[in-house]
Amino acid sequence: MERDMMMYIRGKWVKSSSGKTLEKLNPSTGRTIRRFQAGTREDVARAIDAAQESWEKWYASGSVARSKVMYRALGLISKHRNELERILITENGKIPKEAREEVDGVLDQLQYYAEFARKITGDLVEGDTNSRKILQYLVPYGVVVAITPWNFPAGMVARKLGPALITGNSVVLKPSSDTPSSAAWIVDKFVQAGIPKGVLNLVTGKGSEIGDHIASHRDVGLITMTGSTSTGQRIMEKAASNMSKVILELGGKAPFIVWKDADLPSALKALVWAKYWNTGQSCIAAERLYIHEDVYNTFIKKFAELSKRLRVGNPAHSDMGPMINSAAVSNMARFVQDAIGDGARVLVGGKRLSGKNFGEGYFYQPTLIDGIDQKSELFQEEVFGPVLGAMGVSDEEEMIRLANDSRYGLASYLFTKDHGLMFRAAEAVRFGELYINMQGPESTQGYHTGFRLTGQSGEGSKHGVSEYLKLKNVYFDYSKHG
Ligand code: NAP
Repeated sequence: MERDMMMYIRGKWVKSSSGKTLEKLNPSTGRTIRRFQAGTREDVARAIDAAQESWEKWYASGSVARSKVMYRALGLISKHRNELERILITENGKIPKEAREEVDGVLDQLQYYAEFARKITGDLVEGDTNSRKILQYLVPYGVVVAITPWNFPAGMVARKLGPALITGNSVVLKPSSDTPSSAAWIVDKFVQAGIPKGVLNLVTGKGSEIGDHIASHRDVGLITMTGSTSTGQRIMEKAASNMSKVILELGGKAPFIVWKDADLPSALKALVWAKYWNTGQSCIAAERLYIHEDVYNTFIKKFAELSKRLRVGNPAHSDMGPMINSAAVSNMARFVQDAIGDGARVLVGGKRLSGKNFGEGYFYQPTLIDGIDQKSELFQEEVFGPVLGAMGVSDEEEMIRLANDSRYGLASYLFTKDHGLMFRAAEAVRFGELYINMQGPESTQGYHTGFRLTGQSGEGSKHGVSEYLKLKNVYFDYSKHG
């Protein structure tokens, strides 16, 4: 087993004040890989104090100096990227290709934000008279708390540290208890890159135990969290006590639409990616498949064949790795059983994989189901795994209505050659992202955001950077008589 992982508070690697640790399992084997600190409220308070005491100096150092630290961290991450890829494979169960892609994403994001340091601008606005001006400039919130999920444990850390640090905020990072190691590895690279003491802190521990304390701390200016809708709602409630700003990137329920004139091979390729990337554990995963009735049978048959052909198992030699934990696998079994109970048909998969090749790992078969009702749980709740339901549609208005019929509103996909339909859908679809004739994921220069229960605000692009800054107004009068 690897050595115990520490927290990083006020420039030091430290143990929990309680002396307690938690276990991190490898989802491919179900075995413990390492222990990490079960942080306490006291640890949270120490980390927030350190961030509060350090941010003004960090801000005063200027955005170019901050960007130099980020460039150095970027260089170190790039040089040692194999270590991070290994962590992603063992702690998350990613197949090597996906681990590499995630590290590419980390580098891409840090590069984008390091470059952005020279592009932060305010405005000079005319006042009510000619000698009056209003200077609108952007200032940091101070202490930013970054709470990250387990599905992209390195990518989500980069997505939050990049804009928070470049804009002059200090950070308290709280990673998922399912994947704390990638966060610690990235923090270590910022430490080696010379991030000043107190500016970046890492606290680990169960969100259910320390989360409320983090979210309701009065010195926290902004909480940026990616995770489930229920946790996001709780954080928002707690943050309200101090009016701390929240950026919440929550669940998704993406419709994947294959219209009658779609290029079927490219739609199939994109759907294999959109459903099975990261074992279906992605917020932009295809969660509902709507196929035009003219091509329904052809498309579903081909997708079923491709799903059956996927090799599932040990990430080193597979197309699809394990799910994150046993609760996630049980969830798949529940969705499938409920769908069968409602009269749906399982076309492919539908079972947990166990036995010699799977050990104690959390493996589930790629699963395709049809005969689904729009109101069923499978079409309304976030599945977050390799199970997909399909439904036939024939009318454009019905297709748009069904696609929009979700409490979540993050990603959506449309495959068609009809340019009119592309524009009509772009207008009508109520999702933060619509991918037309292409797969994801989102780009750093795009603004990743969602409607409805998917959350508040967004990340990426100039709009995402501005989420980490507050607009301040200074009024001047430079006339001779005041
Ligand atoms: P989760 O259970 O909500 O956990 C997310 C983070 O919140 C973890 O660090 C967790 O810590 C922490 N947490 C738990 N309870 C908390 C509390 N009361 N106060 C403060 N923090 C608390 O979500 P997950 O299972 O890790 O992630 C999967 C979800 O993330 C899915 O719904 C997915 O759609 C969503 N997601 C969304 C996006 C997006 O961009 N919209 C991207 C990726 C994932 P512990 O691990 O210690 O409990």
